[in-house]
Amino acid sequence: MDYKNRIESTLLSRINERRMLEVIQQHGPSSRATLTRVSGLTAPTVSKAVDSLLRRGFVEEVDPLEQSLGRPGRLVRMAAESAAVLGVVIDAAACCVVAAGLDGKVSEAQTRRFATQDSYAALLDSLERHCRDLLGGITGRVHGIGVSVPGLVNERLGEIVCCPNLHILDKRNPARDLEQRLGVACLLLQETDALCLGERMYGDAHGLHDFAMLDVSTGLGLGVMAGGQVLAGHSGMAGEVGHITVDLDGVRCGCGNRGCLETLATDTALARLVSEKLGRPLTVAEVAAEISRRPGDFQHELRVVTEYLAIAIAAVINIFNPTALFVHGEILVCSAERFARVLERVKQRTLTASLADCTIVATRSSKRQAAIAGIMHHMTNAWAPSIR
Ligand SMILES: [Zn+2]
Repeated sequence: MDYKNRIESTLLSRINERRMLEVIQQHGPSSRATLTRVSGLTAPTVSKAVDSLLRRGFVEEVDPLEQSLGRPGRLVRMAAESAAVLGVVIDAAACCVVAAGLDGKVSEAQTRRFATQDSYAALLDSLERHCRDLLGGITGRVHGIGVSVPGLVNERLGEIVCCPNLHILDKRNPARDLEQRLGVACLLLQETDALCLGERMYGDAHGLHDFAMLDVSTGLGLGVMAGGQVLAGHSGMAGEVGHITVDLDGVRCGCGNRGCLETLATDTALARLVSEKLGRPLTVAEVAAEISRRPGDFQHELRVVTEYLAIAIAAVINIFNPTALFVHGEILVCSAERFARVLERVKQRTLTASLADCTIVATRSSKRQAAIAGIMHHMTNAWAPSIR
């Protein structure tokens, strides 16, 4: 075989292997016969691809739980015991580190949580310690670590350009720094992009190619899946609707400007307004409790944030025309009654045709599941391009 044919043959094998991974991720543990049927590839091609994935430690074979009549085929599944990945979630108030098999199942037993430190050096020390703790308990091969961060990630420069809610991350790359300390490949992930991947891999966006994820819990983050790819822009910074000016004389935003949508449409914004009214600083959790106790006292604050959240949601729907929009938040999103009021306002601010295309879903997606999905997605993507 000449050089060019050899490259084409390798690429073709990898594309088939990736197809196998996708089928196993979608259908769960499957026999080779099922993989053949679902993938539409020939039995010998499936066998070759599965054998290669077994050798590389991406999948493992197990006996089926129930023995059916005849000779049951063994099941091929994502490597849950013989391989692992780690997810690291850095957030304004708290961080967590989680270990999971390649099946992506996360558990509290394999999760370490701690409060976010005041300095970058101390944060990195804690992350390293917790990662080492989890890595010590893993017997199989560790394929990589997904590090999810809030803020603006410039993929070309390979750093967090600016993190309005956690400035110790400005101009930093915790993934690169952790990789140097741990000797394990680490990948920097913008948290809402990771939430998108998590929702598609393990949540309600299964099989969707055009959807968006709006996170309004701390800052206002947006991740957009367009045509099956995370929308990145030139440097990976696309989708920052949170920093559109909506109030010319508004309060100072973490980005340096005034009156950004982020300062009016989020849980943090509601916490600020309620704190101002009560004359003492309250956290989002304290404000949520205060509002449940006496909702009548905060009608004005709730109405302001409801209006601006509706503007944010309408902007995303008008601009990106998604089939689904997942909204992640604590106070307005988690209460069915309050979220219904937001949706009422969205109806009046969105183009009717675009809104008709779109299902809006309140979600509780977890950022630790998202960090795992991010590194899994990267592993699969690095292996071969997707053909669909
Ligand atoms: Zn801003």
